[in-house]
Amino acid sequence: MQQYISSNTTLGILGGGQLGKMLLDVTRRFDIKTNVLDPNATASSKHSCNHFVLGDLMDYDTVLAFGLEVDVLTIEIEHVNIEALYELERRGVMVYPRPKTLEIIQNKSTQKAFYSKQKLPTAPFHSFENKTALITAGQNGVFEFPCIWKAARFGYDGFGVKKIDCLEALDSLPEGDCIVEELVSIAHEVSVIVARNASGEVALYPTVGMAFHPTANQVEYVFYPTELDLEITTQAQDIARNLVNAWEHVGLLAVEFFVDSEHKLWINEVAPRPHNSGHLTIEGCITSQFEQHLRAILDAPLGKTDFYRPAIMANVVGPENLTGDFYYDGVETILNTPQAALHVYGKKTTKPQRKMGHITLTGSTLDSIVKKIKVLKSKLQLKAT
Ligand code: ADP
Repeated sequence: MQQYISSNTTLGILGGGQLGKMLLDVTRRFDIKTNVLDPNATASSKHSCNHFVLGDLMDYDTVLAFGLEVDVLTIEIEHVNIEALYELERRGVMVYPRPKTLEIIQNKSTQKAFYSKQKLPTAPFHSFENKTALITAGQNGVFEFPCIWKAARFGYDGFGVKKIDCLEALDSLPEGDCIVEELVSIAHEVSVIVARNASGEVALYPTVGMAFHPTANQVEYVFYPTELDLEITTQAQDIARNLVNAWEHVGLLAVEFFVDSEHKLWINEVAPRPHNSGHLTIEGCITSQFEQHLRAILDAPLGKTDFYRPAIMANVVGPENLTGDFYYDGVETILNTPQAALHVYGKKTTKPQRKMGHITLTGSTLDSIVKKIKVLKSKLQLKAT
């Protein structure tokens, strides 16, 4: 990694949200030069990078021009212009994740088709090019209700996922290409983060558990260890390892799974970048997911992934009844709690369910910190100014 440290070699990051901001904590520690592209003039990453560029991540010319100024290019969001990434790769920029992998993952329909082709377990699904095709298929009994509708592209954090109970409910869905999945009887949701560097070295994080918000389809807590037996957690890690090797992926890959009521594992989806399910690695593990992503894309040796002790992370999201300006109330409670770490993403305005920050708590047993973090989360509140 020597040639990247305190040198003119530049890392470009497409996207300047909280994932970029936390990645930049590590580039600053290593003194790695960074450029960030984001469409938001007040993006979370703006003040941590060396050079901030305001621009559209989906625009070919903008992404191409940005990429030509850097030596290594990575992403913190999947919704970027793929054609520009292919062109940058042709012109010798190291683009990680590779465009061919990102292209499959960017679209839930092609992503799921990949799993089916590889005979990897994923919930049965149908793809539709538009809403009319979806409604026609619903009327013809192609799929059953209840089912899960997902926008094929541009969904995030549960925005773009909906449980559909009957044919009439299809009318309220937005236009666009989509998939419909069979409803899985979910007993647990788990995630495995795996890293692979360009030399082919692979490092797996332990399997973590995810607890979802009761109505928002959004993860609320991530915890380690899980209550699952070793057979299942190892099986999840094996699938994650096989995926990075099959794609010759470079960087992090977060693989989200469902475990159903019969203890069967299903791949839900993957993200080729740092992920919400890995935030607890910052305080919990020897190497954080952000440092590991950096090590992987710079082809440096990968770090150890062991947890020091049980850990739990709670997302801090915008409350239902508040949009716009806000202030934080209750920060002192977190700061007065030993082993609690507060991360604030620096977003200037809030909206319902918007991810604004997170709290991580570590301790000697998971049971003790589960109770405690719920209290901490309830004390920290976003309020109208
Ligand atoms: P996003 O890409 O926005 O994170 P996901 O595809 O991960 O959306 O879905 C969000 C959540 O919705 C899942 O974690 C799960 O709780 C629920 N969900 C998604 N697919 C299914 C399914 N097939 N059956 C039951 N619940 C599902």
